[in-house]
Amino acid sequence: MRIDILTLFPEMFENVLGSSILRIAQEKGLVQYNLFNIREYAENRRCVDDRPYGGGPGMVMKPEPVFNTIEAIESQTDVRPRRILLTPQGCRFTQSIAKELSKEPSVMLICGHYEGFDERIRTGLEAREISIGDYVLSGGEIPAMVVIDSVVRLIPGVLGDSNSTVNESFNEDLLEYPQYTRPAEYRGMRVPDVLMSGNHQKIKEWQANHALKRTMEQRPDLIMNKKKFSLGNIEK
Ligand code: SAM
Repeated sequence: MRIDILTLFPEMFENVLGSSILRIAQEKGLVQYNLFNIREYAENRRCVDDRPYGGGPGMVMKPEPVFNTIEAIESQTDVRPRRILLTPQGCRFTQSIAKELSKEPSVMLICGHYEGFDERIRTGLEAREISIGDYVLSGGEIPAMVVIDSVVRLIPGVLGDSNSTVNESFNEDLLEYPQYTRPAEYRGMRVPDVLMSGNHQKIKEWQANHALKRTMEQRPDLIMNKKKFSLGNIEK
């Protein structure tokens, strides 16, 4: 997968893309990260933002440097990337969107800053708008890193064991079952006997029951949403 990142602060990405799974994915040749500094594509390099029409606080990112950056990138690539605009006003990012994006050959992440984007960036780009949650951050760089991390680890071959992404939270709308490692007892807290029994059938049942129990306790909305969906199908 090719990942193009458009930002005013490319230096923010260096440690994140150069560490852990994201670094390994690139070393394995499974992903290529390309950072583009939007400022370099501005006709006047010092001017990437301006005061909002109609008044109001802060500065708004101008359309021309963003459009110029995208056009420069896309004029050199055969595959048109899936454009993503990071914005708190976008559709809430989920594991299923991450899965969908992990199948794309090319993804472009456009990071806002300051008061956000001129509206014509939103309307003119036909980009998918993604928010990482209902709160406002200073820029789209951290949201872009969140999207990249969650997507790249789903690309086949990135993680050592492909089961790691199957048995984890949000698959099948469930949270993962509780996990334990050595020692068998720590400060009076014991690992459930069944997990040390070697009985694979019983262990599977315990894990399935506890995934359900954990989801009911922590995120009943996941189960309710699923129920609503299946009831909807029955009604149809
Ligand atoms: N004025 C905007 C509003 O009220 O909707 C917020 C702008 S925010 C300070 C600056 C930039 O940070 C946004 O353009 C976006 O790229 C990014 N950003 C902030 N919060 C975000 C979130 N929850 N999800 C994705 N991007 C976010």
